[in-house]
Amino acid sequence: MPDSPATRLVHAGRPPAVGGGPLNPSVELSSTYHALTGPDGMADPSVRSYARGGTGTWQALEAALGELEGGEAVLLASGIAAVTAGVEVALARAAARAADTTAPGAHRPRVVVPSRAYSGTVALLRHLRDTRGVDVVEVDPALPGALEAAAAQGADLVWLETPVNPTMELTDVRAVRAAVERAATTAADGRRALVAVDSTFATPLLQNPLALGADLAVHSLTKAVSGHSDVLLGAVVAGDGDLAERLREHRTRTGAVPGPFEAWLGLRGLRTLDVRLQRAQASAHVLAGRARGHRAVRRVRYPGLADDPGHALATEQMRGPGTLLALDLADAAAAERVAAATRLWVHATSLGGVESLVERRRRHPAEPLGVPEGLLRLSVGIEDVEDLWRDLEQALDRSLERG
Ligand SMILES: *Cc1c(COP(=O)(O)O)cnc(C)c1O
Repeated sequence: MPDSPATRLVHAGRPPAVGGGPLNPSVELSSTYHALTGPDGMADPSVRSYARGGTGTWQALEAALGELEGGEAVLLASGIAAVTAGVEVALARAAARAADTTAPGAHRPRVVVPSRAYSGTVALLRHLRDTRGVDVVEVDPALPGALEAAAAQGADLVWLETPVNPTMELTDVRAVRAAVERAATTAADGRRALVAVDSTFATPLLQNPLALGADLAVHSLTKAVSGHSDVLLGAVVAGDGDLAERLREHRTRTGAVPGPFEAWLGLRGLRTLDVRLQRAQASAHVLAGRARGHRAVRRVRYPGLADDPGHALATEQMRGPGTLLALDLADAAAAERVAAATRLWVHATSLGGVESLVERRRRHPAEPLGVPEGLLRLSVGIEDVEDLWRDLEQALDRSLERG
């Protein structure tokens, strides 16, 4: 029987066990490598040559992530660099295929995306729509079957984010894969859309998109994987070697490369992901249940609650509901009063660190308009749950006093 992911993330990506060798990969601080030239006078492609193409420190984290997700991982400088890599590789693939059948540039690439997703992803796709004419179809992720229906109309890329940041909505990855397969059977050229899943909220421990039928699993490792709010890092994990090679080429071409310290911190964080996640998830469950009973809270969004719209799907495609939840307060002012009144919960953006964070997402102008004004995103850390509840409860109480 294979070891469980909780065990594998402790041991994955280590250097070979040789007497006197280090247990951990080292931080490889070198921009260049001694040349190895083949008999043909050309650089030997099997060895490292320049750090933009790959370093030993990246390789260790890539090996670990690839093992956990069941694919080939490509490390990038940030989560949004990983999102960009996934989108660009899909667009390039669409352009190359279209060139076989139509005049160069005649194919208008089509991307289906949920209308609520990480704000940076929505902003990137709208930018590509405005500057490069990409047909971006935004679909309400709360409408059952709507993403599948849009995917069935034909697309080059179906971008999913599940659970959605910050509304905690879930999408059925298997159903979307089935929809793009069906669409391919009726398409004139038989092409199937790529399916990419931003799985940041789930981490590789709670959900494995490739096993659910996705072609690409995308992570902001800045969040729970690194886990200490001290690094920016991202990765795309590809289900096949050809896509992985295209992602690496994209990285080398565009230069969105992580630094060696960042990669090392990412692997250092990954080692403790399971224990941090188990504790924070258990606390998130408790807090979601208690917050629901508070007068200031209109709605709690957490797929771990039995009556949450995402609960049944979470049980099928995830191994746990995760460490994030959202509370709908009456309005923006009430939500801001909560964020201003907490003592332990840090009022800050980002998520997935050891410290609990709270933020009203619509305070950012780029946040999709479908996110309610009074929505507070809570990222649960590893503090004592009773301390967290006491602090949150008093802040919710305070929000009821007129500001
Ligand atoms: C934070 C986040 C990103 C972007 O990651 P960065 O590391 O900040 O660039 C992408 N997707 C989701 C779901 C995120 O939460």
